[in-house]
Amino acid sequence: MPPLADTDPGVCAPPGKPPEASWHALDAAEVATWLDSPADGLDSAEATARLARFGPNRLTPPKRRPGWMRFAAQFHNLLIYVLLASGTVALLLRHWTDAGVIFGVVLVNALIGYIQEDRAEQALEAIRTLLSPQAVVLRDGHAVTLAAETLVPGDRVFLVSGDRVPADLRLDRTKGLLVQEAALTGESVPSSKSAAAVAADAALGDRGGMAYAGTMVVQGQGTGIVVATGDATEVGRIGHLLASVTTVATPLLVSMARFGRWLTGGILLLALVTILFGMLVYGEPWQDMVLTAVGLAVAAIPEGLPAVMTITMAVGVTRMARRNAIIRHLPAVEMLGSVRTICTDKTGTLTRNELLVTSIVTVDASYRAGGSGYAPEGEIGRGGNGDWRLVDPAGEPLLLDLARAALLCNDATLHRDPGGEWQLAGDPTDGALLALAMKAGLDPAGEATRFPRRDALPFESERQYMATLHHDHAGYGILVVKGAPERVLALCGRERRGAGTAPLDREHWSAVTAELAGQGQRVLALAMRRTSVELPELIAEDPITEDLIVKDLGEEGLELLGLCGLIDPPREEALVAVAACRQAGITVKMITGDHAATAAAIGRRFGLPDGVIGGPELDRLDGAGFAAAAQANSVFARTTPEHKLRLIAALQAAGDTVAMTGDGVNDAPALKRADIGVAMGRNGTEAAKEVAAMVLADDNFASIVHAVEEGRTVYDNLRKTILFMLPTNGAQAVVILLAVLSGSILPITPVQILWVNMVTAVTLGLALAFEAPEPGVMACPPRPRDEPILTGRLVRRMVVVLALLVASSFGFFHFHRLQGDGIEEARTIAVNALVVGEIFFLLSARDLHGRAGLGSALAGSRPVWLSIAVMTLLQLAFTYAPPMQALFGTAPVGVTAWAAMAAVGAALFVLMELEKRLTAAPTPPSPRSDSGNRNGRRPA
Ligand code: ADP
Ligand code: MG
Repeated sequence: MPPLADTDPGVCAPPGKPPEASWHALDAAEVATWLDSPADGLDSAEATARLARFGPNRLTPPKRRPGWMRFAAQFHNLLIYVLLASGTVALLLRHWTDAGVIFGVVLVNALIGYIQEDRAEQALEAIRTLLSPQAVVLRDGHAVTLAAETLVPGDRVFLVSGDRVPADLRLDRTKGLLVQEAALTGESVPSSKSAAAVAADAALGDRGGMAYAGTMVVQGQGTGIVVATGDATEVGRIGHLLASVTTVATPLLVSMARFGRWLTGGILLLALVTILFGMLVYGEPWQDMVLTAVGLAVAAIPEGLPAVMTITMAVGVTRMARRNAIIRHLPAVEMLGSVRTICTDKTGTLTRNELLVTSIVTVDASYRAGGSGYAPEGEIGRGGNGDWRLVDPAGEPLLLDLARAALLCNDATLHRDPGGEWQLAGDPTDGALLALAMKAGLDPAGEATRFPRRDALPFESERQYMATLHHDHAGYGILVVKGAPERVLALCGRERRGAGTAPLDREHWSAVTAELAGQGQRVLALAMRRTSVELPELIAEDPITEDLIVKDLGEEGLELLGLCGLIDPPREEALVAVAACRQAGITVKMITGDHAATAAAIGRRFGLPDGVIGGPELDRLDGAGFAAAAQANSVFARTTPEHKLRLIAALQAAGDTVAMTGDGVNDAPALKRADIGVAMGRNGTEAAKEVAAMVLADDNFASIVHAVEEGRTVYDNLRKTILFMLPTNGAQAVVILLAVLSGSILPITPVQILWVNMVTAVTLGLALAFEAPEPGVMACPPRPRDEPILTGRLVRRMVVVLALLVASSFGFFHFHRLQGDGIEEARTIAVNALVVGEIFFLLSARDLHGRAGLGSALAGSRPVWLSIAVMTLLQLAFTYAPPMQALFGTAPVGVTAWAAMAAVGAALFVLMELEKRLTAAPTPPSPRSDSGNRNGRRPA
């Protein structure tokens, strides 16, 4: 119920409750009185006071599972069950040390799993808060964009298509407003809204005058007064949070889990065979064989792998966020590495979206406007290159009319911030036109009172124009239209000429449009018409053609005032990023609503290959023709969101992995369909952000490319981790297996294997998750999307490494036995030789492709060296500390043995590097020093 009256009657609202009614049953004006909501918005001081009273406009998040439960969940895992069973067997056999180490492994793993998962969740949570929604609110008389969290009851909020309704609102003005309320009512058909009050007992879904928090505006626009925020909203009261649950499962992790189960099954079978073999062939006592088999199983199982893979993903997601690409769906992290085509918007993504009107063309003259940014200061000059001179706009009636049209048919506002900078609220194109009107000497407030607005048809990408209806002091209607020249010219029959009008010279205007567009300018045409009737019908849209109905204007239609050319400079980083894409084998396609000539000119600036096609041409093509055009062209102009959808389908059918950008509510289907849907964080609608896999915090094309680089890195790091874990675990198991099969004395005892297994899991095993991108990541083509994570080459390398590690460990053991050393000492040396081999392999595994060269592999990264240092300390304790010697049956090792181990380790390293280079794929083109991947290096 009304929160203000309920919680604290009489402070901001008149005393008492609204007469036994809820907000939906009151008129909007009454609601405004109750909530003390002035028509020009709350002032900041009042808003701050209310925020302190009502609290932030956010839902209390559900309680997280308590820590111990999340810790306990770590034990629910097949690998861990096997370990627990093994530990129990060791206990039953009264082998206390073995049991202790096995349970130690279990505990350590659960701990790592818990910490990693926690960090992953925190990373995702931090990223979710980056995506906090915004709302456009009237405060201190200005429309401002604020974090939706700061809304308070009594605020006046603007809604447009694509918005998530930020709080419960009593609507006071609506235009074609359709709201999808499924989140609240389960009703999937959007409901139409109006400002009218409804019966007090109307159900939630029938309250046409209300827009509820969490529902989605699918069409139209409106304004409303906030009546409830945060947990007091309807969605807050039913208590189900819209935010999705965090899961860290991606296709790759799921398939690795499946692989893990399969591997465990295989290992158990092998262990069983080992027991039987030892007992039947060599007549060993069953207790010994069971213990050996337990050691084998525990050693072979890569129990740390799932946790490391999760943290690798989380590290990648965090790095991407730091580079302005916010991941919403984790599978995108994997997918990014295989992106082959990026379809991108032009305005705001490749360009800065800082528009400036520089050219104005009327029948009388061409003008050039100066100035920078949205500051409404700058001179206007007239004439061509030869006879250019400054003019006083007041003396140019046609220019002034054009400027007036630009001001009236406009939803942007400009105001000066406390620092004196001019700030834009609204669409940049509108902002540029408004600044022009002000440069021409018009005053927005004055014009708005002279020609009050009665109705408006907002700009939509599909329609490509905007229209407003005003009336003058005599009560006559004035229709103003601005938009893409083709569309506006089609609505015009005449053109303004001096004080009168003349028939429209279409050829002339098309030629002027082409000329301005050819210079890369965005061209808008402006037209106006004073109606002959007193109050014409409000603006309507033809439901079938979606065109403006201009029947009150008669045959002649509108009168063209002239054209404006706007420039929008390219983003420097985007220029670099497009070049980096070319090197990385990624195709860039520009998809824009702009004119073909404008798009082509910008495309050339970015060095995109030739090939420009317009939406209308695409529509004339059949399926095969469309597919061919999708491949062949790199600039798609005058497109609608529907074209995006068809383009993705065509590119995907050809086997491409496609990233597609979008911002509007109508882009949502394309964003969903793309392999990576990329939404604009600043200019994008909530609707687009919610279906996108990735949101760009800075709307910048370069951020997509950075994300691709990080995506490739994550995938590489996952591969490196697997590449390291499987053969090292395997080698530990094979050492035991071989000894059993050959009937020789075990070179490493089961309990020693358990120790090595435990300490590598906490040290070396974790190091590769944090690797920085390899120098050449953006110098090779994208990974084929169906390529398995372990290619034949990598499997071969794992087998080679496994063999080398086993050979070294066995070799040292038997060599020292032959030298007459004690069994304890030989075993200690065998264990340490294995560990030294693993350390060298870790260094080698850092460089997946053999591109980096020996020097950089040995240079290592901080996590790698840290893990090696810890591992070394643990091994020294294992070898020299008396209690450890007692537990694990180890003996001190001499300096020469260490030197020999290091030498053999280094030799193994060289062999591994040789293998890498012998089997290396053809060398990719060497990275250019100016490519994007060298920029913005972060600390590892
Ligand atoms: P993009 O975002 O791909 O550059 P848009 O769909 O925003 O393209 O714009 C397409 C065309 O619509 C522009 O070339 C311009 O002529 C027209 N247009 C863009 N913004 C507005 C606006 N605010 N009001 C009227 N017309 C506009
Ligand atoms: Mg746009």
